[in-house]
Amino acid sequence: MKIDVLTLFPNMFSGVFGESILQKAQDKGAVTYDVHDFREYSTHKHRKVDDYPYGGGAGMVLTPQPLFDAIEKLTNEGETKPRVVLMCPQGERYTQSKAEQFAKEEHLIFVCGHYEGYDERIREHLVTDEVSIGDYVLTGGELASMVVIDSVVRLLPQVLGNEVSHQDDSYSSGLLEHPQYTRPANFRGMTVPEVLLSGNHAKIDEWRRQQSLKRTYHRRPDLFDEYPLSDKDKDYLEQLEKE
Ligand code: SAM
Repeated sequence: MKIDVLTLFPNMFSGVFGESILQKAQDKGAVTYDVHDFREYSTHKHRKVDDYPYGGGAGMVLTPQPLFDAIEKLTNEGETKPRVVLMCPQGERYTQSKAEQFAKEEHLIFVCGHYEGYDERIREHLVTDEVSIGDYVLTGGELASMVVIDSVVRLLPQVLGNEVSHQDDSYSSGLLEHPQYTRPANFRGMTVPEVLLSGNHAKIDEWRRQQSLKRTYHRRPDLFDEYPLSDKDKDYLEQLEKE
């Protein structure tokens, strides 16, 4: 996968892309990152990228020219048509299923806004997706794009050590993940559930399934609206409700 990021603050990315899974993914050849300062595409004599909003009001608005030119160039360089993702608090709320969609693409371009926002023509004519990472407003799209990129890159084949390890993650399966324990079995009198020490994998799977349902029931019952529960799941949830 090829990932291009358009930003006015390229230095913000080096730490995040140079550590942990994001760095390993690049080392393994699963992804390449190119961070571009879109100020370099500005044709203004002082490389200006923003201007006052028509109609008045506070703040500055990103002008269309540098972003149109940058995206056209990056699109023409690639072999496949990229998804152009605008980071925007007014966008579609980001979810794991969107991460799974993005992970199937060959080329993603992320556009990080700043200041008051974008000229509307960027939103209307240049991008394929508008993504918000939550109902709050950040100073710029840099941190938001890093969140999205991290969640996509870890889904690429061969990136996580164990190929299946993200499939049980919360939201990937459609439910929240079951609780996890590691050594020691007894820590200051706090013990690990017996079943996990039993070596009986059928029983462990059943316990995990039930814990996953229980956790989702208590913390995120809205996830059941979209989730196809089996008869066994339904029986367990009925029993839980009675308790
Ligand atoms: N005035 C804009 C509005 O009310 O929609 C907010 C602009 S915000 C200060 C500047 C930039 O930060 C946005 O253009 C976007 O790129 C990014 N941003 C802020 N909050 C975000 C969020 N929740 N998700 C994604 N990007 C966000």
